[in-house]
Amino acid sequence: METAFKSTYDPLYDETPGEGSAYSPSYWVADAGRPPANDGPVNSDMDVDIAIIGGGFTGLATALFLAREHHIKAHILEANQVAWGCSSRNGGQGHLAWGRLSRSQWVKRWGTDMAKKIHKNTLEGFDIFKSLVNDIDCNPKGDGNILVAHCHSATRALATESQFCNTVLGYQTKMISKDELHEQYIKDQEAAGALVEPVGIGVQPLKLAFGYLKLARKYGARVHTGSPVTHWQTENKTHILTTPGGTVKARTVIVATAGYTHHSLHPLLAYKNMPIMANSAVTGVINDRQITDCGFSSPVFLTDSRKLRFYYRYLPEEKRLQIGTRSAVTGKDNDNPRHLNIIRAAIRKKFPPLADIGIDYFWSGWMDISHDMMPRIIQPDKHQSIYYAQGYSGNGVSFSAYAAFSLAQLVAGKKPDDDLPIFTSPLPGHPLRPIRRMGQRLLFAYFNLLDRLP
Ligand SMILES: Cc1cc2nc3c(=O)[nH]c(=O)nc-3n(C[C@H](O)[C@H](O)[C@H](O)COP(=O)(O)OP(=O)(O)OC[C@H]3O[C@@H](n4cnc5c(N)ncnc54)[C@H](O)[C@@H]3O)c2cc1C
Repeated sequence: METAFKSTYDPLYDETPGEGSAYSPSYWVADAGRPPANDGPVNSDMDVDIAIIGGGFTGLATALFLAREHHIKAHILEANQVAWGCSSRNGGQGHLAWGRLSRSQWVKRWGTDMAKKIHKNTLEGFDIFKSLVNDIDCNPKGDGNILVAHCHSATRALATESQFCNTVLGYQTKMISKDELHEQYIKDQEAAGALVEPVGIGVQPLKLAFGYLKLARKYGARVHTGSPVTHWQTENKTHILTTPGGTVKARTVIVATAGYTHHSLHPLLAYKNMPIMANSAVTGVINDRQITDCGFSSPVFLTDSRKLRFYYRYLPEEKRLQIGTRSAVTGKDNDNPRHLNIIRAAIRKKFPPLADIGIDYFWSGWMDISHDMMPRIIQPDKHQSIYYAQGYSGNGVSFSAYAAFSLAQLVAGKKPDDDLPIFTSPLPGHPLRPIRRMGQRLLFAYFNLLDRLP
């Protein structure tokens, strides 16, 4: 039975994200139509080889790769609905990204040789995402992506990054002026210039997840919705996972719970991510005059250069604008109207012709921000048959496909070819864990100040 969606859910306090909860009220849910069939809640005790906890992009695509590439048929245990977490709530921006670090930060952290390896790896990973997208009806828009400088000083920083990409990595990005942005893509009125990246695919994320679901089941995976894992104990190398409908015994467990991971789930996962909320809005239908005045001539997706950045794109078939940003700090504050007002103010500033447009959809979700801004794909303890891919830090639409591919390889016994840092250490914890939220508030206040500077 479907239960009501609880907007105040908070992964730091609520032990599970629910049991059979309805989807968050995202535009993608309204647009995607009825979900394809799944295997329903666990309704008796089961003995399985591999259990995957969490049925978002990561869980679904891992089950797909395990079944299709390695003939291993996993069982997904999802607390609510297929892709109920971030995977039905994101902006659908399929970036060439590795967590939240910029490419020049790779060099600072690991040196130029490793940065080149990482870049090569992101391109290979993106191809995996692309091949899935090509097989699935998910409205792909493969026009690269744009980083918009929200002020003049940001233009300089983007130009430095662009030059680094071109000369060191051989990744041909380009800087364009405000006028070129307006003529070729979109009339964002606060833009001071922009960096154009050649790689990027925008998707309807829930349709993509539904495609993963259909393919995973076609190859033999089982997907149990309405099945939160409420307790996990391990006896004689067997994992015993308690769900409301029955106990699942598994030889191997893959954890794909991202920002919805409660610290009680398993000690190896406790406090490894900082759940941080992001939101998104979709406007009412935009009329032809407004479309012309806003210069909506491309479906390319954009992100601005603020610390608390806005990400947005024009949806041409629907004639709507999608736009989102960082949101409430706690679940309790999620319904505070000021979060939507921040988005309304951004629309007025970027697209004045839409100053009075209605917002038809507004929602939020918990991202898995790792403490070093880097994801991991790993078996964190070689004595325990537990694997995870997490810490995508707000960039998981495309990366989850690569993470799932690599995770399936690891579980099937193939070691990764490279000594890339995503494979070589588990997610770090945080020394100031009890006061992380206080730190987040202070940081957000500071970022807000920085974002107002010219
Ligand atoms: C508003 C917003 C916008 C975003 N925009 C973008 C974007 O444009 N581009 C981009 O690259 N990334 C974006 N992201 C991030 C991206 O959506 C995520 O990185 C990605 O969806 C993570 O997928 P996942 O499968 O790992 O986790 P999720 O999709 O979050 O799935 C985790 C699942 O685990 C389940 N779960 C948790 N605990 C249990 C339990 N105990 N038992 C059973 N099930 C459990 C949850 O119900 C949930 O369905 C955005 C995120 C948000 C919130």
